[in-house]
Amino acid sequence: MIPQSLRSALSALLGETAFPDNPSLLTDQRRRFTGRADIIVMPDSTAQIQKLMRFCTEHRIPVTPQGGNTGLCGAAVPDGGVLLNLSKLNRIRTISTADNSITVEAGAVLQNVQNAARRVGRLFPLSLASEGSCQIGGNIACNAGGLNVLRYGSMRDLVLGLEVVLPDGTLVSHLEPLHKNTTGYDLRHLFIGSEGTLGIMTAATLKLFALPQTTATAWVGLDSIEAATALLSAVQSRFAERLCSFELVSRFALDLSSAFSGIRQPVEAQWHVLIELSDSLPDSNLDALLADFLMENHMENSVIAQSETERQQLWTLRENISAAQRKLGTSIKHDIATPIERVAEFVNNCGRDLQRQYPGIEIVVFGHLGDGSLHYNTFFADVLDNDVYRFEDAVNAAVYRHVLACGGTIAAEHGIGMIKNHWLPEVRSEAEITLMRAVKTHLDPHNIMNPGKLLP
Ligand SMILES: Cc1cc2nc3c(=O)[nH]c(=O)nc-3n(C[C@H](O)[C@H](O)[C@H](O)COP(=O)(O)OP(=O)(O)OC[C@H]3O[C@@H](n4cnc5c(N)ncnc54)[C@H](O)[C@@H]3O)c2cc1C
Repeated sequence: MIPQSLRSALSALLGETAFPDNPSLLTDQRRRFTGRADIIVMPDSTAQIQKLMRFCTEHRIPVTPQGGNTGLCGAAVPDGGVLLNLSKLNRIRTISTADNSITVEAGAVLQNVQNAARRVGRLFPLSLASEGSCQIGGNIACNAGGLNVLRYGSMRDLVLGLEVVLPDGTLVSHLEPLHKNTTGYDLRHLFIGSEGTLGIMTAATLKLFALPQTTATAWVGLDSIEAATALLSAVQSRFAERLCSFELVSRFALDLSSAFSGIRQPVEAQWHVLIELSDSLPDSNLDALLADFLMENHMENSVIAQSETERQQLWTLRENISAAQRKLGTSIKHDIATPIERVAEFVNNCGRDLQRQYPGIEIVVFGHLGDGSLHYNTFFADVLDNDVYRFEDAVNAAVYRHVLACGGTIAAEHGIGMIKNHWLPEVRSEAEITLMRAVKTHLDPHNIMNPGKLLP
């Protein structure tokens, strides 16, 4: 269908207000890919999305769902057809302190959901540096992880129910806040992590938790990753579920972030960890307990935040690593995970290998050591623009070889999108990929849902 007749057909279905004039939505947030779309559509109701999907199936028009467009794998970049942006479908539908649940529309921005929960004295624990713009639908479609997975799990663990529009317009809805429901196949898990390839998530019921009343935040300098993983194990033994975050930061990552933020480095060391504990009791004396623990474990090279301002500064150093890297230039990025006890082996072996192949390569290592996932980004000092992508296949091959040798995964929390789908057969068996294709073909027989993403 030519764009003009598509526009008038969709105006008749959705009304004139559903078409934003915003070509920047065609480019991903890393500005690596710019796609093309015959039309960009921003509906504001599930019913409109049902109509749209019926129409697109009938006319075999590809549809790319898009949330906050903060994804890092090019998964929300369209290749023709309809770019379906969910931003206007953003209401908080219900919230229940009795059920510890909140039901929100897919386009609700993560931070707005966190704030809505906080207003009723509850915590929605998913937390990412992009939380001011990423959306719940995108978080579900990517099975987002972030800073609190250690204690609360990733998005998959936080979804109680889903409302989904299938490619043919059928609505599948289970939004009841049931914490138990054993009635056959749990279909919500098919859509979580599906990267917009099976249907459009339009709403979700999410788990809430008691709001923490006290936190204790420490920054610790260490000589090695081995020391960091030993510390993680000791902190878990002592503080159990009170441990929320255990973030690893390499010296180079901290140098970049500290220069970018203008915040002094808390301690001098080769490796750093940011530890945060929280408790729902107001008088749990966590600071003192954490200080005693660090002294007992000979962690003198450490600081504990003495105020909310100091805590924010420590977190700013951690959170600004991505922005500081962006200022430095383009890098080849990896979102990997290994079993925690093999993280050091991976970082040491892979670093040695890359240095041998590319003398002078700079590697920024940071991430969620508490759940074994790391951001592993490589910079070539003399190629700091997108031209660096000519090394991408070779660098990926080296990095992923070490990841797989350590029993890890090439996509911990950002997904596969269009940059890693040719690597999928390395991490999923032929039988698994055949099964995934069978599910995809059944739900989306005309392959209109986000074609070219996820599956090779
Ligand atoms: C600075 C920064 C820090 C980040 N930190 C983290 C982190 O710590 N942990 C982490 O997990 N991620 C992180 N991310 C990545 C990103 O923010 C997450 O992947 C996020 O979940 C994507 O949400 P989004 O709304 O922006 O989705 P988009 O980028 O818009 O889309 C991502 C995918 O979801 C699909 N999709 C979106 N909405 C829907 C819907 N309603 N129905 C069906 N499919 C849909 C799209 O088609 C696409 O495949 C970070 C990104 C940035 C820029």
